[in-house]
Amino acid sequence: VRWEDIGGLEETKRLIKTAYGLALARKPAGLNIDPGETMLLYGPPGTGKTLLAAATAGGLDATFFNVKVSNLLSKYFGESTKLISALYEVAHERNPAVIFLDEFEALVPARGSGESGAERRIVSTLLAELDGLAGKDDERFVLTMAATNLPWLLDSAILSRFQRKVYVPLPDDAAREEILRIHTEKKGHQSQMSITELITLTAGYSGREIEQICEIAAANMISRMNPDLIDRVEGGLDEIQAYELKVSPLTREDFNLGLDTIQPTTSSKMLRNYESWLGNLE
Ligand code: ATP
Repeated sequence: VRWEDIGGLEETKRLIKTAYGLALARKPAGLNIDPGETMLLYGPPGTGKTLLAAATAGGLDATFFNVKVSNLLSKYFGESTKLISALYEVAHERNPAVIFLDEFEALVPARGSGESGAERRIVSTLLAELDGLAGKDDERFVLTMAATNLPWLLDSAILSRFQRKVYVPLPDDAAREEILRIHTEKKGHQSQMSITELITLTAGYSGREIEQICEIAAANMISRMNPDLIDRVEGGLDEIQAYELKVSPLTREDFNLGLDTIQPTTSSKMLRNYESWLGNLE
């Protein structure tokens, strides 16, 4: 994933690049500056959090560890803490490295579930690794990016470990324009609908949902333009390989099918929760 594959989020991209610029640039003797190597990305689902982490790793030629926290949580006593330590050990060896911890809220046991000693140890192992990173004054670069759609489930002990908490919002008009172009033009599709109208019609949708709308539109165009595709497939390998797909610009009907099929999942109440969360903490 490259930075230009991500529409919008300019401010977030700048913040991430600054952090690794500070961490990796040579520093004049005596300068002690906190690069912020631990970052929590929060916001609605499908807004590009994983993409940002992958682009960070790609831009640095860094080793990218994409970890779902629920997969770290082993039911076997002691295994999870070993997994976490091993993850950080390998990341240090393979530096520069970016560790992406997705669904970070899974780390916090549901209230009333009777938190066990084992669970507390998992959290404290991870916090120790994060502390270790923050305190390390060496040339190695291991960036931890945690992501969550439910930041309010995280407690203050965990939150305080993150030097930066970055809101990844739903795309605004300019970002939706870029996302629409990434998932149509840059994939070789033309459109009969104006970009301005598409920007208006996709208000409230996440990047992932816009991508899905474009995919449905493109699939509809392909089946409309190639009604005999299935017959060709049934004709065997030679016949299908000799056949070239016919294409046309995406029509209003193509996009309408996508827009009708995919509904935005982030409610305005959820949006208000995200927008006020950090402010409420302070
Ligand atoms: P979740 O919180 O559900 O894990 P996420 O925020 O990590 O989601 P991604 O996995 O980064 O979301 O995005 C999902 C897909 O949606 C991407 O693979 C991409 O195709 C598309 N997408 C999302 N945001 C953008 C964006 N800003 N620009 C281009 N594509 C995007």
